[in-house]
Parts: sequence; C-alpha cells; structure tokens
Amino acid sequence: MDLGIKGKTAVVCAASKGLGYGCAEALAQAGVNLVICARTQETLDDAAEKLRAFGTDVKAVACDITTEAGQKAVLDAAGHVDILVNNAGGPPPGHWSDWDRDDFIKAVDANMMTPISMIKAVLPAMIDAKWGRIVNITSQSVKSPIAVLGLSNTARAGLTGYVAGTSRDVAKHGVVINNLLPGIHATDRAVSLDTGVSQAQGITMDEAKAQRAATIPVQRYGTSEEFGNTCAFMCSQYAGNMIGQNILLDGGAMNSTM
Ligand code: NAP
Repeated sequence: MDLGIKGKTAVVCAASKGLGYGCAEALAQAGVNLVICARTQETLDDAAEKLRAFGTDVKAVACDITTEAGQKAVLDAAGHVDILVNNAGGPPPGHWSDWDRDDFIKAVDANMMTPISMIKAVLPAMIDAKWGRIVNITSQSVKSPIAVLGLSNTARAGLTGYVAGTSRDVAKHGVVINNLLPGIHATDRAVSLDTGVSQAQGITMDEAKAQRAATIPVQRYGTSEEFGNTCAFMCSQYAGNMIGQNILLDGGAMNSTM
C-alpha cells in the first residue's frame, strides 16, 4: 500500500528503541525522511544506521526531548516538519501515597507539556502548508487506568484533553492530530514493568510475563512493528478524515463494547 507520504519529513521523538523506533521504521519504509532523537548517543546512532538502509535521509539528534534545548535541537535539525510523532519515556510506577507535587510536575512536563510544546512549534507551518500529521504516543491507561501508573494516567489524560480540542480546531487546515494508545508491547518498558511484577510477587520474569500476557485476549504482547505500521497509516494520505481519535492497540485487553 502506497501511503502517499514519500519524500515528506517526520520528526519521531524518543525513537532509538521500542515503539518510537517502530514508528520511525514504518515511516522510513514509506519513504519518509526522518529526524529521530533519544538521550543515548550510541543506541541512537545504531538506530539511525538501521533506518538509513531503507534509503531515506535520517538525522539523529542526541538530546532529552523533555527539555527546551532538546526540543529546539530536534526542530532545528528538521526544518519544515510534515509529520510529528511525539513520544518520551513513561513515568515510573508507584503508589498514590508516594507521589508528591514534584513527581506530578515531572510527569506533566515529560508526557503532557513536551508534546504540547512540540505541537505548538510545528502547527503554524503545517497550517500554512495545508498539510500535517501528528501522532502522540500515549497509553491504554488513558482509557483504562492502571493504578500503579497514576503519574502516567494523570499527565496523559491532560494531553488527551488538549488534543481533543486542538485537533478539531486545526482540522480545517488539513492538519490531522490523533493519539495512539499502546497496551502492553514487547519493549524495554515492558521488561521493566515485568520486573516490577516479578519482584513484588516473588515470581520469575517468565512467570510475570506469562501472567501479564494471560490478561490480554490475544495472549501475547504487541510488537513495535505492528504499532509502527499503525502509526504510519495515521500519518498517511488516507488518514485525513481521522480527527482527535484515541486508537487503542491493546490486543483487546480493555473489556468494553465501544
Ligand atoms: P522503551 O522501549 O523504553 O524506549 C524508549 C525510547 O525513548 C528509547 O529510544 C529511549 O532512549 C527514548 N527516550 C526515553 N526518554 C527520552 C527522553 N526524555 N528524551 C529522548 N528520548 C527518550 O519504551 P517504549 O515501550 O517504546 O515506550 C514508549 C512510550 O510508550 C513510553 O512513554 C511508555 O510509557 C509508553 N507505553 C509503553 C507501553 C509498552 O508496553 N511498551 C505501554 C503503554 C505505554 P534513551 O533512553 O537513550 O533516551
């Protein structure tokens, strides 16, 4: 399927591994030029090298995307941005009684204000060009709260509210903004959450993983490849009528009719 976005430029944040990398790879396969970022230079360079094999231009910017300097470095490297995929590491798990104001501010900065700042930065030029695609990687926890991820539930719900209104405001300019909500996917983040379950319950990592997979109708974790290709579709020419949606990729884990 030709996604109709060959030659466009995408910024994919937090993309040296996991879901961000999956999105970058699917966009590279669609012929999109990329600016990717992550904090660790070595893994970022490795990712950029793999992506260049698809024949597109790939710039790698080592930075913390949750900082103003990081956001500026990425945007400067890109020039005009046709496609923006917002992503950053998720807040740590814990218990409601552990979190104080600073923990919430940190989570809101990383998982709400960072994507909002990136969206604000790219929107004017997308509106002028009468074309743009923005996908925010959020979480299933937006629709179906996970108590130990209270910081994530809170910050991502705020971003979701912002996207709901803003996406409808800019839709008339050909700019399409949506959220992509991962359930459990087989990435380093899942390993770290498996480790939490294994330690809390005194079970092995395999047992922890099997226990979590058993809660999902597909009985397995999602893959970055499935996730990335869904993201690429949401950035395609065919996504022009999809506005302000929250697309859940959770293997059916959320039990609801709609
Ligand atoms: P991952 O496998 O741990 O990969 C995270 C990627 O983001 C790495 O490339 C990492 O590289 C980069 N990164 C993290 N923080 C960054 C920052 N501040 N600035 C720049 N780059 C940064 O994580 P993932 O599983 O792909 O998760 C991506 C997002 O989806 C997270 O917000 C996570 O909470 C959410 N999510 C994941 C799942 C899941 O099951 N995997 C489920 C629900 C939600 P460096 O460490 O080198 O910076």
